[in-house]
Amino acid sequence: MEYKVLYRKYRPNCFKNIVGQDYTVKMLQNAIIHNKIAHSYLFTGPRGTGKTSTAKVFAKTINCQNIQNGEACGKCSSCLAFEQSPDIIEIDAASNNGVDDIRELINNVKIAPTEGKYKIYIIDEVHMMTSSAFNALLLTLEEPPAHAIFIMATTNVESVPITILSRCQRFNFKKFSIEDLTKQIRYVCDQESISITDDAVLEIAYLSEGGMRDALSLLDQLASNGEEITVDKILTNYGSISMKFIRDLIHNVENKEASLVHQALLELQNTSSDYKIFIKKMIQELSEIAVSIVSGTYEGKFSYEQVKDLIFSFNECLNKINIHVNPFVLIEVLLFDSFSEKNEKNVDNYLENVDKILHKEEKIEKNSNPVQEISTEPEMSVNETNENENDYLNKLIQLRVNNCFTEAKKEALLKAQSIWNTLVQDDAIKPAIKALIIDSTVVAASDNYCILTAKLDSTVHLLNKSLESLTEELQSYFANTIHFVALSEKDWKFEKQEYVKNIKNGQKYSLISEGTLDDLKPKVYSEIEDIATNVFNRDKIELV
Ligand SMILES: [Zn+2]
Repeated sequence: MEYKVLYRKYRPNCFKNIVGQDYTVKMLQNAIIHNKIAHSYLFTGPRGTGKTSTAKVFAKTINCQNIQNGEACGKCSSCLAFEQSPDIIEIDAASNNGVDDIRELINNVKIAPTEGKYKIYIIDEVHMMTSSAFNALLLTLEEPPAHAIFIMATTNVESVPITILSRCQRFNFKKFSIEDLTKQIRYVCDQESISITDDAVLEIAYLSEGGMRDALSLLDQLASNGEEITVDKILTNYGSISMKFIRDLIHNVENKEASLVHQALLELQNTSSDYKIFIKKMIQELSEIAVSIVSGTYEGKFSYEQVKDLIFSFNECLNKINIHVNPFVLIEVLLFDSFSEKNEKNVDNYLENVDKILHKEEKIEKNSNPVQEISTEPEMSVNETNENENDYLNKLIQLRVNNCFTEAKKEALLKAQSIWNTLVQDDAIKPAIKALIIDSTVVAASDNYCILTAKLDSTVHLLNKSLESLTEELQSYFANTIHFVALSEKDWKFEKQEYVKNIKNGQKYSLISEGTLDDLKPKVYSEIEDIATNVFNRDKIELV
């Protein structure tokens, strides 16, 4: 029998088998149940997150002759012949990016499906199409025949023209959480009788960085010789930092064992370990500790505040480390800093230290490198990038405050405050998001906007850097999509006074579209959002 790689073998064949994309699955199934199927969809997200698999399940389901509660029956002639169905046309735009291919597709679009109700075009890596191919496709998307459905998938949504985007229903596929990955790896190993330790399952989950395809490909390789898969075997083959190392290190930090911490970091330097992987794993493990503290199952010496500060500091460390000479110096300062008793300014102190070290090291670097390499590509300086980003964020904050004031309602405020209070108790919320919720207060709200304040400036800063994550994470708790914004207590007092003054003077507030800021949105902003998201979505750590 032909060997089928694990990733293909365990591809989901129905909605209930799709792991980790609950929101998308729910929306697609609702569309099927309520017969509101659109003509064009765009699935975006990193590779290996199930875009094509989901597109296929969706295609199979809408052509099923006996759909049951939004799920294909798996028994009808359409379901049974799905793999060979002439009504499902898969196009890989990476290899068929020419206008002729799209023309041919468009000519065939008009021909009715042979068996099923719909003819479904799955266009993978759609961003690879040439602009004339896009234009040809656009004509069809504008007036598609009733039987045609386009599902486009891309890992690079920025390269898809806006004219195409505006005609699609868009779904964003997230990276898989460590929990989803470990569950699936364990399931596959059990099914395939692959012998593997629990630590090794976790190690593979970490190494695959949120991609199921990578996780199962790695498993394929490791299982090829039939021996038991252990952490040691993985580390020998793929050079990484084991979770045992991380746990031992955290234990030593907790017990203020300075020399052991120093030794461990030296070891990392000497083995040229990847500091990004190291930080990612530290954040992951610290988030676990934060959860156990909140849930009362923690028996160690850390306080919640200490763990939270460490997570925030590691996140900040990631932001700064790209321009840093020796990342492990930063990391050591960060860990030693956590030895001291915490006070409210600790994160800020740490950041000051980081800045000092950075400036010192930059100077050393300049002095030791009299002949500077000439870059052929103009690069934005870090300061310039930060300026653009800050400019955009400041304008976004002003806009959201304005919009919240425009439609602020007492009922909306009371509702948001009561939701906020329940969120603190909700175990489904990711711990770092929960930390932000615990540390902030809702002070004004409308149906779509919500102003938060926090005591510490660093919390306000982190809140504003994770606005999209907040909206996304809390979507299901509010009836509407809420756009959040955070102000320090001082700024909130000022804004409130201004508002009262303006209203007295007869000034009218009106809504401003966030689209007016699109031109200002720095490209790097999305990356910074990502980093912020990493800390908050502890399960979906992604590094730039
Ligand atoms: Zn069926």
